[in-house]
Amino acid sequence: MTGKTRDVAFCEAMAVIGALDNGSQHKVLASLKALLDTDTTSVAEFIEALRDKRFRKGFACPHCNSEKVIRYGTPRGRQKYMCTSCGKAFSDHTHTPFRGTHHPEKWLPFMECMINGLSLRKTATQLGIAVSTAFTWRHKLLNALKRLKPESFDGLLEVDETYFLYSEKGNKNIVDRKPRKRGGSSKYRGISREQTCVVVARDRNKLTHVQVACMGPINKAKAKALLTPYIDSVSAICSDANGTWRVFSEDAGVDHKELNMKRKQRVIQRIYHIQNVNAFHSRLKDWMNRFNGVATKFLDNYLTCFRFIDANSRTSMTAKKLDLLLSACLPISPERYIDIRSTEFLLP
Ligand SMILES: [Zn+2]
Repeated sequence: MTGKTRDVAFCEAMAVIGALDNGSQHKVLASLKALLDTDTTSVAEFIEALRDKRFRKGFACPHCNSEKVIRYGTPRGRQKYMCTSCGKAFSDHTHTPFRGTHHPEKWLPFMECMINGLSLRKTATQLGIAVSTAFTWRHKLLNALKRLKPESFDGLLEVDETYFLYSEKGNKNIVDRKPRKRGGSSKYRGISREQTCVVVARDRNKLTHVQVACMGPINKAKAKALLTPYIDSVSAICSDANGTWRVFSEDAGVDHKELNMKRKQRVIQRIYHIQNVNAFHSRLKDWMNRFNGVATKFLDNYLTCFRFIDANSRTSMTAKKLDLLLSACLPISPERYIDIRSTEFLLP
């Protein structure tokens, strides 16, 4: 294209965009942004970043922690190491969710599909991998993220619970009721044992915990099990009028600010409110809806993944997927495909 025809094409394109309605113009803007946010992170750069992060406390054998490690060749371009203490070999991604996979160049694009909430089938088509591979990668990644240790809260803490309908998606042998189609609805009104209770706690530094608590309404014991280890530096707990949070705060010896939502009391003294957790709930539901219902046994894993994506919501897609992938590679990931399929739903 010459300079002149490029100018003409640009003017024509602008004329077409100018004639669109406001909603469509925003869509054009979003697709342009996605187009320009191209990822230039190469596999070599990723492995480099991974090595920096995994071995930030010094280079050691992932099997036995010994520092007596020697280089052991570079088959297929991948650096191998040998531990002279335990005699085992390892590579830069031993014990990561992607050990043994053959397509390291597809990991970062895979993260993007996950962040965008693409179905397994669409992800597989886009990346040219089998659906079963996409399934394994997704769940190895989610499991790995769940293994990262949560941090403790500080200052004001907002807590609230939200519910997801119990689902056995993927299970072909449901015996005690007719399978529901794609999410579906509960046959009971209100909060029943068919609803999975998810607790969201968020401090004002935006540190967020989001976890499956129990089936049916939240109770004090479950609230304690989930939050007590992390509230030493909490100054006050804000919640709605659910009595569980009142008793929980009393037991923990923490000031409790209770908002009476029925009387439309949204804030006390201008700072005590639960608007941050409520906004988190709606972003979470929005992201989860893209997956057309997830099996309850995997719910906790999806929650952790969303927590990561949401914490990085202001960073670029490139930074977001790199951070997600690096984080998933930090804990030791032992499971295989068969282990993932046969996972059972266990309450904490
Ligand atoms: Zn070793």
